[in-house]
Amino acid sequence: MRAVTTFREARALSSGSVGLVPTMGYLHEGHLSNVSQARHDNDTVIVSVFVNPKQFNNPADLDRYPRDVARDLALLEEAGTDIVVTPSVEEVYPTDPVTSVVVTELTDLMEGFYRPGHFEGVALVVAKLFAALRPDRAYFGRKDAQQLAVVSRMASDLSFPLVVVPVPTVRESDGLALSSRNVLLRDVDRDDALRLSRGLLAAADAAESGEVSAVRLHGIVRDHLGHVNTDYVQLASSSTCQPVTEAEPGTFLAVAAHVGAARLIDNVAFDAADAQPVGVQADRGTRLTRRSLLYGG
Ligand code: AMP
Repeated sequence: MRAVTTFREARALSSGSVGLVPTMGYLHEGHLSNVSQARHDNDTVIVSVFVNPKQFNNPADLDRYPRDVARDLALLEEAGTDIVVTPSVEEVYPTDPVTSVVVTELTDLMEGFYRPGHFEGVALVVAKLFAALRPDRAYFGRKDAQQLAVVSRMASDLSFPLVVVPVPTVRESDGLALSSRNVLLRDVDRDDALRLSRGLLAAADAAESGEVSAVRLHGIVRDHLGHVNTDYVQLASSSTCQPVTEAEPGTFLAVAAHVGAARLIDNVAFDAADAQPVGVQADRGTRLTRRSLLYGG
């Protein structure tokens, strides 16, 4: 594995088909699942580690975002990464950009509504990574379903010659979706944090049993959330991120809530059911069988 700090070096070391896994570091098994898929599909695997200041609408969130590059490098080496690029803010933004990448419509609701400017920061940095590293495939987690939609649409609208590959959500053994922000949770926050995935998984069970009404699926999730400070519960189209009234293949049920010092997001995506011609099958992601490496040991 080579660790470099410039895009030029990362590109110069690449050969054959290139898979890119963009991350903000403080890695966990969710990121590593993206790396393993990229390893499977490509000759060269590049992982970028960059905490992008432009996608943080809240300065306190940026300040407390966990960072540990030495730890990330060790995990990436073990995962079979070829090239890790850890660019400085100056490498990514040598001059303050006057060019913006604005994805409209898909960003009206959910994260786009609650984090103004967030997706402009995401779209800008991802467009820069695509332009500078020129991957054939780029891997994004289904955990961030709206981000996946925004990046896919941006890549298509701007004719980036690459495929955006979705990777299923990796969950802790109790169901909590892995997130670098989970290290901000105290023991007393755990029960509330679990309410997000419990609500979504209960709604997924209901949807698979034929309960497709958005109103009723929202109700199931809200019943589980109880007193938790919730930004939204929303059933939406996976491609347009617009609200839908019924769960059907190509939709997802998303939630965002504040627990302790962390703002958590999670979702289940609905795909076509294998067995029957109608109905949905929920992608609940995968679960770890042991404690996440997020917590050390
Ligand atoms: P982040 O470092 O949080 O910006 O995430 C980097 C990439 O990893 C994004 O494509 C995320 O969607 C993906 N990712 C984050 N958490 C998970 C997870 N629990 N399972 C799968 N992918 C994830």
